[in-house]
Amino acid sequence: MRVTAAFSRLLQLDGVWVRAVRFERRRVVVEVALRRRRLVCPQCGYSTPHRHNIREVQSDWRHLDLGVWRLEIRATLRRLVCPEHGVLTEGVPFARPGSDFTRDFEQLVAWLASKADKSAIERMLRINWRTVGRIIERVTADELDPDCLVDLSDISIDEVSWRKGHRYLTLVGDHRRRQIVWGCDGAGQDAADRFFAELDPPAGDISAPDCTERPGEQAKPELAAESMVGERAATIEAISMDMGPGYAKSVRRHAPQAIICIDTYHVIALANKALDEVRRVYWNELRALGDPDAAKEFKQARWSLLKNPEDLTDRQAQTLAALQADGGTVARAYTLKEQLRAILAPGLTPTQVAALLTRFCSRASRSRLAPFVRLGRTIRKHRQGILAAVRLKVNNARHEALNNKARLVTRRAYGFHTAQAALALIMLTCGPITLMLPHEDIHLHV
Ligand SMILES: [Zn+2]
Repeated sequence: MRVTAAFSRLLQLDGVWVRAVRFERRRVVVEVALRRRRLVCPQCGYSTPHRHNIREVQSDWRHLDLGVWRLEIRATLRRLVCPEHGVLTEGVPFARPGSDFTRDFEQLVAWLASKADKSAIERMLRINWRTVGRIIERVTADELDPDCLVDLSDISIDEVSWRKGHRYLTLVGDHRRRQIVWGCDGAGQDAADRFFAELDPPAGDISAPDCTERPGEQAKPELAAESMVGERAATIEAISMDMGPGYAKSVRRHAPQAIICIDTYHVIALANKALDEVRRVYWNELRALGDPDAAKEFKQARWSLLKNPEDLTDRQAQTLAALQADGGTVARAYTLKEQLRAILAPGLTPTQVAALLTRFCSRASRSRLAPFVRLGRTIRKHRQGILAAVRLKVNNARHEALNNKARLVTRRAYGFHTAQAALALIMLTCGPITLMLPHEDIHLHV
């Protein structure tokens, strides 16, 4: 067998034959030629037998390594005029438009990105994290199930921070499929409006959902004030969210029939925040009193207070018992927080929860602890939504698990420089994408 034939067999690249193989320092360069005569637009698939001019473009792509060798594919391409996209270099079947990597290589990167950490991937594949970001953006845009926004009935909308300094992504989850099905850069009403705009695109613009929307080109088809509810928005029965005003406002406008549920874990998180505030005030008092030892010891009590009692270590449990015996503001705040947690734990009927919430709110408002007075007020304001979540048994544990998974993933995405890359990583790990490795994916090699 000749070397070129052997490499043709080895590489399994679609639509090309191997012309020559060269061994260079630390890399193998495989020169290929396209089998097809027609020129294809890499953007839209338009094809033509005519080339734009005689100028040729030499392109290189990195392919899967061959043993310790870096492997590069080289092809000489022609240029065409696409009626829609103008003059450009013809597309190749084995690589995505604009990429310096073959589909096989990108598939491997995406699969690894959903499983392994940054340094493992960088070292194993010899690429940097930003390149990984760009690759997974392309793979996600390509592999996302185009039907993922069909038939939504029970969804969640929530935000995660993907970078320090209040950079947020808004994520929409499908409770039934337990997947994140949509996301965008930003948070609040504007983000939710964009979701509804994509859910029911204006007629004539039925394109696949684009999870990698560029900031700045936020096409916001302004629905008229008397806006009709879109066909897909109309099938949504319940939407769970936090207590911020933005999402609810958008939902009332675009899906007024949907029941707004307040995720109870958001309510408990708010109680934890109130407790932490009380603790901090007390700690500052201790320091001001000139008792640094007590202050230091108390600072370490933070986790004893914030963790669920069943998760405490022995030592933390002791600290907590001491604080409670003390009976000060912190102990009272802790009791209130635990009461709320018990009320919202699964097992109680909606009627019981309603009665207990009323009692809790009046207790909180009489507590003389400012953060808890505020908490009581907030809960009163969102009572309907909280009770709806209990009544409809919105599966909080499951939803929280999905959200936590997304949060964990965003921590790995901190090194990316665009929100789109962070979003792509979330969709790869929590979204409607089935990733396969090159040797498993027969679609890659037809
Ligand atoms: Zn085109």
